[in-house]
Amino acid sequence: MMYDVNKIRKDFPILSREVYGKPLVYLDNAATTQKPRCVVEAMVDEYYNVNANVHRGVHFLSQKATDLHEASRETVRRFLNARTTNEILFTRGTTESINLLAFSFGEAFVNEGDEIIVSTMEHHSNIVPWQMMCERKGAILKVIPMSDEGTLNLDEYEKLLTPRTRIVACTHVSNVLGIVNPVKDIINIAHSHDIPVLIDGAQSVPHFAVDVQDLDCDFFAFSGHKIYGPTGIGVLYGKEEWLDKLPPYQGGGEMIKNVTFEKTTYNELPYKFEAGTPDYIASHALATALDYVSTLGMDNISLHEQTLTHYAIDRMQQIDGMHIFGTSHNKDAVISFQLNKDGNLIHHLDLGTLLDRLGIAVRTGHHCAEPLMHRLGVEGTVRASFGLYNTKEEVDVLIESIQRVMQMF
Ligand code: PMP
Repeated sequence: MMYDVNKIRKDFPILSREVYGKPLVYLDNAATTQKPRCVVEAMVDEYYNVNANVHRGVHFLSQKATDLHEASRETVRRFLNARTTNEILFTRGTTESINLLAFSFGEAFVNEGDEIIVSTMEHHSNIVPWQMMCERKGAILKVIPMSDEGTLNLDEYEKLLTPRTRIVACTHVSNVLGIVNPVKDIINIAHSHDIPVLIDGAQSVPHFAVDVQDLDCDFFAFSGHKIYGPTGIGVLYGKEEWLDKLPPYQGGGEMIKNVTFEKTTYNELPYKFEAGTPDYIASHALATALDYVSTLGMDNISLHEQTLTHYAIDRMQQIDGMHIFGTSHNKDAVISFQLNKDGNLIHHLDLGTLLDRLGIAVRTGHHCAEPLMHRLGVEGTVRASFGLYNTKEEVDVLIESIQRVMQMF
């Protein structure tokens, strides 16, 4: 299929709006993506025509809504190539997926003096839940070191693994550097010590095809809103043999088999982990988004974004005073940078604010990765991140605008 980005852009109504009288150039896709019409329409249509609570109704609408919700689980299963839908848990997003896992895994498997491993480049949501669990359990958090170029040091990683290591949690793609980590190696090394691995896929699934069986990760988390789906929905994939061994995260309706005041027994997978009314509107819309990207083709999206990223990096590197973070060639759709004028740093907030006035949406700050900022020795960066609908022309506008801003200083 020909990848016709201008045609694709027409599916996203927001992309044709202006900000401050300038065409919107949306380069904040790592934070959240815009929604194609089909996703919004799926939500509106379900609210207007199907809405009813799922799983517990005998009536027509409830059964229809349940069918859509469970068909969505199957769509997610297919998208990740999980073995069964029992391995697909709906959550509110990556953050909740990791909190769920850190809590339940901690309850079942972590004791005082045990160790958890994360990497230097984690988002706070793949640090803090583990830290909270470590505090509760008296466990210790260890960190895989990273080179100046943004490469995780796998030799040092292997040395961190001990008989007390209980789990490794690592991001697939850094939301700051765009570096694609060698997660297959990270998983293989952990497995050779019988240690399970969680991969934070928030920044990978929107950009290239992911196959959880091929990766052989034990757990995998992602957010719907970063892959053109709605907010408030995400996924935790977990191998059935692990999920079976974990206790529930929250109690309530749906996650039970039988309840008495003396004792409650829990439901089967995946419902054991889905207390309360799920966001069945969002699950259906997420499935619509996954179908949308699948129709475009994840490989086509990946190629388009890679071309754009390399083009942007080439052009940015020609700007005097430009510093791009994370220069490993295995880089994906995210470019963090700082700009110096006559040896003086232009503050990321000033740069971001001025770019905004020119119609360009970029993100500034620590990007919820403060430990990575400390490692890089910076307070913050400006981050441009691409999605399937961005164009070369938009990169040109970014470059020209950066040059214009430089002249203002
Ligand atoms: N992990 C990574 C790598 C991320 O980029 C993000 C979002 N910036 C998250 C986790 C958290 O995702 P959410 O806020 O959707 O839960």
